[in-house]
Amino acid sequence: PFDAIEKTEDNVKKDLSEYKGVWVFAEQREGKLMPVVIELLGEAKKLAAEIGTDVSAVLCGDEVGALTHELFAYGADKVYQAVHPELKNYRTDAYTKVIQEAINQYKPEIILLGATHIGRDLGPCLAVRCDTGLTADCTKLEIDPDDKKIRQTRPAFGGNLMATIICPNHRPQMSTVRPGVMDKAEYVAGREGVAIRLNVSFDEDEIRTKIIKIVKEAGELASLTDAEFIVSGGMGLGNPEGFELLKKLAEKLGGTIGSSRACVDSGWIDHSYQVGQTGTTVKPKIYFACGISGAIQHLAGMQSSDYIIAINKNENAPIFEVADYGIVGDLYEVIPAILEQL
Ligand code: FAD
Repeated sequence: PFDAIEKTEDNVKKDLSEYKGVWVFAEQREGKLMPVVIELLGEAKKLAAEIGTDVSAVLCGDEVGALTHELFAYGADKVYQAVHPELKNYRTDAYTKVIQEAINQYKPEIILLGATHIGRDLGPCLAVRCDTGLTADCTKLEIDPDDKKIRQTRPAFGGNLMATIICPNHRPQMSTVRPGVMDKAEYVAGREGVAIRLNVSFDEDEIRTKIIKIVKEAGELASLTDAEFIVSGGMGLGNPEGFELLKKLAEKLGGTIGSSRACVDSGWIDHSYQVGQTGTTVKPKIYFACGISGAIQHLAGMQSSDYIIAINKNENAPIFEVADYGIVGDLYEVIPAILEQL
């Protein structure tokens, strides 16, 4: 099938050698970079070194000074700044327009976005406008030493196989990358780079959505991908009410709760809390696995946490093989005891 693609007229027209550099979409919310941006910069550095090019970040907002310095410190050589009041909060039309124009002008070879809600919306829009492909939800990126094209690997068919995808004849090569999977870029205080201001203007009818107000849920727990502490529960909870106990510990630590897929499938908790191969990949400072057996598909989403503390009644549970600390016991006795100590 790739041979067939190569011969189409459209593709012959694109001069791929014009495309240079690795770009990272510097997603910000309320003036703060999303943690995945630091992971993307770490990955972009590696890819750029292998193809002998530089790393740039694309930053949209209405105030971008401080973030630009942060991006340099995390390894961006250039920061393309799109500054406009209309770009303060994400909207598909506005962000797509300015980034597409920048792509047309500066022609990056690779673009990485976080597979966040925003990245999953923006990535496909940009890919269509730029007449290129997009590999969504990647968990591994590599440069092929022979052809220098990027190999993009992602779980497919519900995580039953890993698909490696290439973008043979279109540029830029685009990927959204799962948060929490790649290593973070190193922070080098005072590192400087080149800031490039993009021309930004909008016609009145170009942006089809309006933000009327932003409503935050009261008492919201930290999101799974941002949380430094995750208290995760499995079927060992015995019932959905068990998550209330986990929530107490999570709140005490300023973290959030997570879950195994078995609890999601049983209708005990929403899928957005699921950790694992077909859920979210997490990398907190501490991951508590409470009443979770440690199936390979669960481990795939949490085993690179800094510390894993497992609480399980069965001393032979596989979770103890990846745990830094193991507590053999009933979670309904162990967690109240931890809470009391805290
Ligand atoms: P169980 O395996 O039933 O384990 C319950 C554990 O609780 C046991 O170890 C038991 O000893 C312990 N326990 C019982 N009572 C107590 C108590 N009172 N105190 C302490 N411990 C107690 N799973 C995921 O989690 N995430 C995924 O993304 C995911 N993706 C999958 C994708 C595919 C294609 C497939 C086939 C499966 C996937 N699974 C996933 C499912 C996975 O294989 C397991 O079935 C699931 O993780 C098991 O959940 P669990 O550990 O909660 O339940």
